[in-house]
Amino acid sequence: MENKIIYGYLRESKEDSTGYSLEFQKRVGEKIKKKFKFKRIEILNEGSGISGNSNPFERIQGSILIEKIRNGEIKYLYVYEWSRLSRNNFYSEYLRKIFRENNVILYEGDCNEPKDLNNPIDNLTSSILGSIYTFERLNMIKRIKEGLLQSRKNSKWNGVYLPYGYKRDENKKVTIDEDEIPIYLKIIDFVFEGKTIRWIVNWLNENSIPTKSSKVIKKGFIKFKDKNNDGTVREVGTQTMLWRDNVVKNIITNTYYKGLRIDKYRNEYPFPRIISDVKWEQLQKTFEDNISRNRTGNKQIHNYLLKNLIFCGRDHKKLLGRIKKDERTYYCSGKRKETRLKTGHICSLPSPNLDRLESFVWDKLTSIMSNSYLIKEEYKKQKLQNHSYHKSQDILKKDIQKFERKIESIKQKKEKILGLYLKEMVDEETYSKEFKKLKLSEETYKDELNDKNNNLFILGDKGHWIDWINDFSKDVKSWKSETNFDYKREKVLKYIKKIIVDFDDETKKHLIEIHLKYPMINDKLIWNDKNDKKKGYKIRNGSGVIKHKLGKKTPYHPIITSLMV
Ligand SMILES: [Zn+2]
Repeated sequence: MENKIIYGYLRESKEDSTGYSLEFQKRVGEKIKKKFKFKRIEILNEGSGISGNSNPFERIQGSILIEKIRNGEIKYLYVYEWSRLSRNNFYSEYLRKIFRENNVILYEGDCNEPKDLNNPIDNLTSSILGSIYTFERLNMIKRIKEGLLQSRKNSKWNGVYLPYGYKRDENKKVTIDEDEIPIYLKIIDFVFEGKTIRWIVNWLNENSIPTKSSKVIKKGFIKFKDKNNDGTVREVGTQTMLWRDNVVKNIITNTYYKGLRIDKYRNEYPFPRIISDVKWEQLQKTFEDNISRNRTGNKQIHNYLLKNLIFCGRDHKKLLGRIKKDERTYYCSGKRKETRLKTGHICSLPSPNLDRLESFVWDKLTSIMSNSYLIKEEYKKQKLQNHSYHKSQDILKKDIQKFERKIESIKQKKEKILGLYLKEMVDEETYSKEFKKLKLSEETYKDELNDKNNNLFILGDKGHWIDWINDFSKDVKSWKSETNFDYKREKVLKYIKKIIVDFDDETKKHLIEIHLKYPMINDKLIWNDKNDKKKGYKIRNGSGVIKHKLGKKTPYHPIITSLMV
C-alpha cells in the first residue's frame, strides 16, 4: 500500500443526523489512510447541502469521482458510509456496478477490512440489499428516464464532462469546441492511417494535449475547501491526468460526432455534427480493421487464464503471458527491457510453460473444489450445530489475537529502530535493512490476519455460509469438463487470490504456490471416530495455500481458449 493513493469522498446534508460532519468524515478517512498504509489520501469534498437522493453523476465531485474510477485512476475509495455516495437505491446499484467493473476496493467508515464487490461474499451482501428494493428501484428508473428525456430535448447536458470536442454555450446548450475539434480530426486521421489506439494515446500524452477532465477542472487544479483548516484552500495538481485507451476508443466510436446522441434506452436525439455519416461509418470500419489486423499480427490473440494473478517468487513482479510461434510461457515482468533499464536488474526466473501451468492450476482448483464438496455438504447437513463448529470459531479468534499481538510487537520494533536511527546510534544502511525486514514480516502477518478474519466472517454468519455452499454445490460438478475460457477465468478470479512461481535450481522444477481466497476450501474433515460417524468430526483449517512442484515431465492438457471477438 505504501505507494498507493486512496481517495475519499465526503458529503454532508440536512437529512443526516449529527456525527456526519465533513470534519468527522475526513478524520476517519485520515485514520483509514494510516491504518492501511496509503501514501496519501485525496479528498473529493462535495460539501454540505447536497441531498443523498440526488444523482451522483450530476454532483460536481461525484462526477469527477466516477470519471476517475472509469479512467482507472481510483482503485481505493473511502467513504464514511455508503449513504455518502447515495441514499438512492437506483444510483447505489449503478455505482456498485461501476465499482465492480473497475475493481474499486471500498473502505467504509473506520473498517478493519475493505470491501471488494467482486468478492462473492461482499457482493452477496449488496445484492440482498438491492433485491429488497426492486419495486422502489423500478419506480425510480421511470422517474429518471422522464427527467433525462426532458433535458435532452432541450439539448442540455447534465453531466460535468461533455464529450470531447464539445462545450456549453452561455445558455448551457451544447456547441462545438473550436479548440478541441482539431484534435478530434487528428485522432480520426490517425485511425485512417492505421495507427493503433495505444499509438494515438501515446501521441496525445507526448504532445501534452489536455484531456477533457484537466480542462474542466480549470487551471489544472482541483480546489478543495478544507473546513478542517479554517477555510484554507488546498490545491491538488491535475497535470497527471493522462489520456487512456478507453477514452480515445470512446471518442472514435461515439455517434455524437455524426450528430447523433443515443441514450442507453436506445432513444435518439440530435447533437452538433462534426463529420458526415459516411465518413463516420468509414471510421468505424477502418477502426475495426486496424484492431483485427493488429490482432492477427503479433498482438494478443490469446486470453491468459492467470493474468494479473501470477507473481514471481524472486522479485515479486507480475508474470505476463507470452504466446509466439516458438514460445508459450508466462514470463516475469522483471525480465523486460524497461525494468532492466530502470533498475539494472534482470530477473533470473525461468519462464514456465503456459499450457502446463494453466492446466496444472485448473486441475488443482477443480480437484480441491470437488474434494471439499463432500465436506461442505456434510457441514451443511449438520446445520452448523456441531460442537466443532464453535470450536473452530474459538481457534480462529485465538489465532486472530495472536497475529494482532505479533503485528503490534513489530510496530514497536519499527519505532525503536527508527528512534535509534534518529539518535544516530545506527547508520542508515542498518536502519533501512532492519526496517525492510520488519516491514516484510509485518505484511506477512497482516495477510494471515486478513485470511483469519475472512474465515471468521464466513463462519460467523450462517446465512452467508449456507448460501455460499448452495451456490457452490450446484456449480462444482460441471467444472472439470469445462472448456470455455471466460467461464474458467471467472472461477479462477473468484477462488484464487494469487499464484507465486519460483524455480528450484537443483531439481529444475518450478515451485507453484496457489493462494486461495478462502482458506476453508482447503479444509480437512477429521472424524472423531471413523467407525462411528455419529461422534462427529473436526474441520481442520487449511492454510489456503497449495504448494507443488511442476517439472518438465508433468503431464498436461492444453486449455482451449476461445477467442474474444
Ligand atoms: Zn521475477
